[in-house]
Amino acid sequence: KRLRPRQCLPVIPQGIERSRFFFAIDELSNQLGNENVEVNDKPLDDGWYMEPPNTHDGMAITDGEDLVASAVVYPGCTDDVQKIVHWANKYLIPLHPISMGRNFGYGGAAPRVRGAVVIDLGKRMNKILDINPDDSTCLVEPGVSYYALYEEVQRRGYKHLWIDVPDLGGGSVLGNALDHGVGYTPYGDHWAMHSGLEVVTPTGEVVRTGMGALPGNNTWQVFPYGFGPFIDGIFSQSNYGIVTKMGFGLMPNPGGHESFLYTFEKEEDLEQLVEIVRPLRISMILENAANIRHALQVLALSGKPRSEFYEGEGAFPREKMNQYLKDHPYGACTWLYFGTCYGPKETRQLKLDIIHREFMKVPGARRIDPEVLPPSDYFWSRDKIASGEPDLEELAWVNWWPNGGHVAFSPVAPTRGADALRLWQMAKKHWIASGLDFFLDFVVGLRELHLIVECVYDRDDPKQRSKALEVMRFLIDEAAEKGYGEYRTHLLLSDQVAGTYSWNDNALMKFNEKLKDCLDPNGILAPGRSGIWPARYRGRGWEL
Ligand code: FAD
Repeated sequence: KRLRPRQCLPVIPQGIERSRFFFAIDELSNQLGNENVEVNDKPLDDGWYMEPPNTHDGMAITDGEDLVASAVVYPGCTDDVQKIVHWANKYLIPLHPISMGRNFGYGGAAPRVRGAVVIDLGKRMNKILDINPDDSTCLVEPGVSYYALYEEVQRRGYKHLWIDVPDLGGGSVLGNALDHGVGYTPYGDHWAMHSGLEVVTPTGEVVRTGMGALPGNNTWQVFPYGFGPFIDGIFSQSNYGIVTKMGFGLMPNPGGHESFLYTFEKEEDLEQLVEIVRPLRISMILENAANIRHALQVLALSGKPRSEFYEGEGAFPREKMNQYLKDHPYGACTWLYFGTCYGPKETRQLKLDIIHREFMKVPGARRIDPEVLPPSDYFWSRDKIASGEPDLEELAWVNWWPNGGHVAFSPVAPTRGADALRLWQMAKKHWIASGLDFFLDFVVGLRELHLIVECVYDRDDPKQRSKALEVMRFLIDEAAEKGYGEYRTHLLLSDQVAGTYSWNDNALMKFNEKLKDCLDPNGILAPGRSGIWPARYRGRGWEL
């Protein structure tokens, strides 16, 4: 727990008088109940993963007061959300919706506009509205975590259903999907697996998308498109609406699973490995998101701080990494492939044999026998996640530094060896130059790979924090020069990333801005989210 003292309490959104702001807050309290409106006038508590702050980013990369909320409100239903939106339009107060606020590495719960009012949807709107065991679907509110959904499926005894989970199970099923988050069963592309939204627009109307627009339908969660334009996409990674319900397809239990681990010796092996992975992944021999990790993270996944391995300055030395890995059951290596095959034993074995034959073509490749790994080994956490069981083990690497924080650089490339190598070489250059440590993971969704570079820093070290932000900026620019863009980013880097998607004189951003001004004429909803600024803010010095 870290409590940060504050000077100016609370932060008021720009453009509104202090007294008028408090008058407005009183009005909202009268509508929602005093207990559901909280002014942010206490020291900032960074909490930890299971108790994340909803007023700011618990892993703040800039100075304390930069990105904090003036107040937090807790709607209990869609009608309350509409009331909040009408109120914000009346007083021109910016709003920032979160589901659970665990978006660590991308800004946590922090609003992009200082002093915005955070709508914490998750606290009271946390119902699992439906789990349909025949269609294998569910309908959830924003506060339903992966743990909650998993436990409910178990409680109801639906042994034929699995859910898909990301590395950490405490996030919101709905919030994660809205930010294009990923998990590690064959249903890992969360946005792709959704069907149907209920959305409160920035002017306070309620819209149901897809089949949800048809009164009396029973197809909302089984057919995402409905009739007419498929508008769901404009509500993801955007500021065009507040999502209050979302449906998903659930994976049928495949009748067994088996995880495997291979290690690869040399940095250059990445190129050959990715060439091998592509056809296997596209043809679904490799059934879940491929996970090719750099071995340094193995040391951090032990949960021990960096200082137990190395006390020197600069990027962690390669020789030291090998020295420790030598005694680890994985052995000295550069890359680790964590994967899982699904289905009954005979089906799995066919796929495992092909994978083994192909992976062993890389000279020096080794299969690590899971039988030799103790139950506490990280491998078993991956095995749980790949079979839809929520876990928290992945948090271990955040402790690499005392008061560890992290920020992510997440470019996308085709699953080609040459592209993977180019991204690796670029990341490595900045890794060494910055002197910070990077944890790298190439995650192959299907045809594309996401490289996730987590840059870890000590939150109490301002030099490390500003270095981390600087190196992210270098990486974004250099990646864009080479033709790569990010699939997701930290809220402080949104303008820069959005700026790299500039084809045809920024035609995409112009279109986004047109939509924004039409849907949100007063510019109250999450100004600046994904680099989209409403007219009231645009070109007035908010862009970073
Ligand atoms: P929120 O923070 O609530 O939502 C995310 C964003 O979406 C919000 O900031 C907001 O802008 C928007 N939003 C949320 N709800 C609404 C709404 N109802 N209406 C409109 N907009 C909304 N992420 C992955 O995807 N996969 C991983 O494997 C993964 N591994 C991680 C490992 C570690 C160690 C850490 C620390 C983080 C990891 N993350 C991963 C990132 C993150 O923790 C998860 O994505 C998490 O699920 C996001 O937080 P949340 O679910 O609480 O969403």
